[in-house]
Amino acid sequence: MSDPEPFKIKMVKPLKRLSKEEREERIREAGYNVFKLRSEDVFIDLLTDSGTSAMSDQQVSEMVKTEQAYAGGDSYHALDKTVKEIFGFDRFVIVHQGRAAENVLFSVLLEEGDYVPNNMHFDTTKANTKHKGGEPVDLAVDEAYDPEAIADFKGNMDVKKLERFIEEKGPKNIPVIMLTITNNTGGGQPVSMENIRKVSEVAEQYDIPFFLDACRFAENARFIKEREKGYEDKSIREITREMFSHADGFTFSAKKEGLVNIGGLIGIKDEELHKRCKNLSIIIEGFPTYGGLACRELTAISTGLKEATKDEYQTYRYEQVKHLADSLLEEDIPIIEPVGGHAVFVDAERFLPHIPQTKFPAQALTTELYKESGIRAVELGTSAFGETDEEGDIIPAEMENMRLAIPRRVYTLNQLEYVAGSIKELHEKREDIQGLKRTYAPELLGHFTAEFEPSD
Ligand SMILES: *Cc1c(COP(=O)(O)O)cnc(C)c1O
Repeated sequence: MSDPEPFKIKMVKPLKRLSKEEREERIREAGYNVFKLRSEDVFIDLLTDSGTSAMSDQQVSEMVKTEQAYAGGDSYHALDKTVKEIFGFDRFVIVHQGRAAENVLFSVLLEEGDYVPNNMHFDTTKANTKHKGGEPVDLAVDEAYDPEAIADFKGNMDVKKLERFIEEKGPKNIPVIMLTITNNTGGGQPVSMENIRKVSEVAEQYDIPFFLDACRFAENARFIKEREKGYEDKSIREITREMFSHADGFTFSAKKEGLVNIGGLIGIKDEELHKRCKNLSIIIEGFPTYGGLACRELTAISTGLKEATKDEYQTYRYEQVKHLADSLLEEDIPIIEPVGGHAVFVDAERFLPHIPQTKFPAQALTTELYKESGIRAVELGTSAFGETDEEGDIIPAEMENMRLAIPRRVYTLNQLEYVAGSIKELHEKREDIQGLKRTYAPELLGHFTAEFEPSD
């Protein structure tokens, strides 16, 4: 038996469940894109774990008490103290969310034609790299691309591939090496401490700054504690400090493990680089002591970071995600194994083998799940990561997943059981599910606003 939730529910939001006919109408009106649904039409919302956490009573009460100041507010100093404590960083820049951190950092670091190696780019990181004229390069270990391969650290960077890549392109054309912990795109898979250390050594050898895309750093630390020799008896906080000791900087979306609705950080060790990022962010985000946020948000991030790095919280978090994964595996639903830290990824290629990737099987599965049970998941497949060639033909993505992201401290195990049961029912009638035809998509981050129609 696993430990029960380390909190109790103090406030509730009643949920509405539409009829299947109503949902059919809504998804059609939404162009078969769940991003265009109204959230009130969703019964269980697993679109994202980003900005959807339930806050603690401490976070909320401190927010109310926080004084709003343009410059030098107490909330800034509280966050400064927490960033030092948790990450061991003296210098940071506050921004309004993770992609703003990427925007600021890449605007300062990247020049046209530069390469940015990463284990696997997240969609906004990829888009921001391209937006600044850079070329995102994914160099994850091979098993990261095999949904059936069982390995402890499928998020790892392939260090040999990285070294070869640097030799081939020349370190001068690589302004930063990134490592995403955990690897969201690859299924929330963790990166080992050994890998973080080795990548940092390669970066140092070639004098290239090494940054962590640290959105789910504490979930990554929990995996290290569970799976890596020598870390069994260390706390999440101790492991976190060690992970960040290897990095020259980090980008962070507080919407994940800040346990808040909005916010982001850039941590930077180098004084000069910090100054450049800070000065740019004054122009595009805000004065350094609030960074595009209300001061109350800084207070909530500061407390949220402390709560997210508690061992008992991380144990609860992992058990919840694993419970959903195990329920699906019991029914032989194909998912990425072993399950990652924040979501269960259903492999749509194996779920719907009769739909070719050019007909968006993961998108089709996502819209069917909403239609049948009111659950909103998200496509991370050819709509999100595919490309189009010069003739306008679709180049399929490497993987074709439907992601069920679990918001933090929001849903009960019973609700997750409902999710598992609904997917099982869909699986039983999977042969009736048809592919989709894309009728519209902008060039970058097209999946957010893409439109589809049934293909036959
Ligand atoms: C969410 C996320 C981002 C972007 O953060 P936003 O706050 O959504 O802008 C970047 N990288 C990874 C790995 C993420 O999960």
